[in-house]
This record gives sequence, C-alpha cells and structure tokens, in this order.
Amino acid sequence: MRKFIFTGGNSWLDFRVTIITDEHCTGYSRAGHPDRPQRIAATVVRLKSQTELPITWLAPTIATDEQILRAHTPEMLARLNVPEDFDADTPYFENISGYARASVAAALDALKLARDGKTVFSLMRPPGHHATRGKQMGFCYLNNMAIAVLEAAANGFKRIAVIDFDVHHGNGTEDILLNRPGTEFFSVHEHPSYPDTGAENRGWNCFNYPVAPDAPRLMYRAKLAQALDDLRSFRPDLVAVSAGFDAYVRDPLADGTLLPEDFHWLGQTLRALSVPMFSLLEGGYSRDLPELILAYLKGVEGK
Ligand SMILES: [Zn+2]
Repeated sequence: MRKFIFTGGNSWLDFRVTIITDEHCTGYSRAGHPDRPQRIAATVVRLKSQTELPITWLAPTIATDEQILRAHTPEMLARLNVPEDFDADTPYFENISGYARASVAAALDALKLARDGKTVFSLMRPPGHHATRGKQMGFCYLNNMAIAVLEAAANGFKRIAVIDFDVHHGNGTEDILLNRPGTEFFSVHEHPSYPDTGAENRGWNCFNYPVAPDAPRLMYRAKLAQALDDLRSFRPDLVAVSAGFDAYVRDPLADGTLLPEDFHWLGQTLRALSVPMFSLLEGGYSRDLPELILAYLKGVEGK
C-alpha cells in the first residue's frame, strides 16, 4: 500500500525513501581495516547532495536484550564487553556493544517502517550477516538481519524471505534461521571465498547460489535472477534484504563482476514483488559504494 506525504502547499509527494543512520556509527575504526567509517560518511554526503530521490532521515531507536537473545546466546551478547579482539578481521573496539546494538536497533526500526508500507534502508555499521548464534566474526558483532527476522516472526509475519546479495555467504543468518518455520533464506555469493560456507543448500529453508570467482557478469546476474525467482515462489509476506555491495567489479575484497546498473536492477526486481520490504547494509568496500547504494535505492523507488 502506497502512502502519501503532504509536504505543504499544493504538492503531494508519492512516497520517500527513509534512510536510518546515525553519525555515531562512524565513531570506531582501525587503520587499514576495510570497514572504514567513510563508507557511511561518504554515502550520507552523496545522498544529501542529490535531489532526484527525496529522502527522510531517521536515527535508530533502541534494541532490547529480549529481541537480541532470540538470535544469540547470552554468552555471545556478554562477549561484546570483553576487551579482546574476536578474530583477525573483527577487532574489539571501546563501546562496540553500543555500536552493534545501534545497528540492530536500526534493523528493527526498518522492519517497523516496512510494515507501514515505507521504503526503508538501514545505512549503519557494523554489518551483521556473518555473526552466528554464538560467535562474532567477519566484521560482524550481532546479526542485525536475523534479529529483525525473528522480531517479524514474533509479530505476525508468516512467510519471511531473506535475500542476501553480499558477495560473501551470509553464514550467520543461515546458522540462525536454519530450519526455522516461516522463514526462507536465499544467498547469492562468491564461492570459494570467505567464509567458505554456502556451497550447497542446507536444511529445508536455506538456499545457496554460489558463483565462481571472476564469473562473467551475466552469469552472476543469472544466479541472482534464479534466487529471486525461487524467492517469488515462496510467496513471502515480508522481504528482508541483506544488501552488500561487494560483488561490484571494483570492490577490493572479492572477485565479483557486477556493475552499478546491476544493483539498480536488483532494486527494481525486488520492488516488483510488491510486498513489504526493508534493506540493511552489509558489505561494500569500494570508493564507489555511495553510487552503488544510490543506484539500488533508485531501483527500489522505481526511478
Ligand atoms: Zn561481504
């Protein structure tokens, strides 16, 4: 259902994209780490400098322990406060618990807005899709997506589809949602690549679409199209998107071959499903990340 926003005067605007972000999410960094604060900062500047896509900006609210603990063990949540690196890719930062919880809160807010029929994108870090039920890894501290999906399931959604187009397999989301009634998980990713999972389907609800490193762009597109066809057959009442932009041809972390227009196409194709939908930023490490996000959002908005 489309909503209309009265903007004063005689003009009615058909819909605006809502971006949930918070300048505080740029407050932690480690020299040389690909998850740089500039990923968010530069995207905010780019989105604010354009006028083609009207945007409503919101800051995240809060996430409760109860919501987080549907997806994670109490030990895993407590581990966020232990000042030791989680692994070589996943450093401990002062107040990483606060940053991770804000990112979860943004995902939960995105879900709420999607339920109201809004187009919404969470532009936050840290990402979440590698965090498993019991372990932080791969730049991820809490699984924003899985927490939001379990919140949706607890609030009446019966057929929740997650599509993860980050170039890396969403092993954490798969781990948490595996064989969970009412959810299906579709991940299109490079394989072999980090984290070396996702070669095959798992359980009855986790579907993996591995793409070989440096596979031709049209082959990558075909895998995405296949995943989206399968997702459509599930007849979801909610679509949750782990939006990673590191399958882009110029991304330094992987060997994907996608172009900006492919992210636009992804947005358009998801829009055409005509079901409530929200998107959460996962990876994407090239300097062109702001353009890729803008292309995706234009697709989602039908522009
Ligand atoms: Zn990634």
